[in-house]
Amino acid sequence: MPENIQDNSQNSRRNFLKTSGLGVLGAYLASRVFGRDAAQAAEPAKKLEMVSPKDPMAQSLGYVEDAKKVDTKKFAKRAGPGGEKQFCYNCQFYQEKKNAKASKAAACTIFGGKGVAAMGWCNSWVQDPTVKD
Ligand code: SF4
Repeated sequence: MPENIQDNSQNSRRNFLKTSGLGVLGAYLASRVFGRDAAQAAEPAKKLEMVSPKDPMAQSLGYVEDAKKVDTKKFAKRAGPGGEKQFCYNCQFYQEKKNAKASKAAACTIFGGKGVAAMGWCNSWVQDPTVKD
């Protein structure tokens, strides 16, 4: 009889270790999967620092957030039918290429990666051959 008791207790211990081991493994895996998702969800999207039109470099290049407000007497490059089609979104220095026209803003390499308005303009504009209009 004492042997049976010992066997039962060993079986229970073995079963406990099996099930608790699976539980611990499951908890570990869940924490790895969901913990990473939660950490990624909690990570704030990088905010794009925008170029201020009052910035000295922006002023020297005639950068404006609304290309229709360019002083074309001062920046004749944007005058006329060809000039009117110039916007940041179709400039080769505008870093959003996939949805350039639909974007609101993106980094500009001329301004060291700071954000410029899609509908903006500056005198460094160069046609991006991959973006039409
Ligand atoms: S270089 Fe191009 S993208 Fe950058 S501000 Fe000037 S026009 Fe816009």
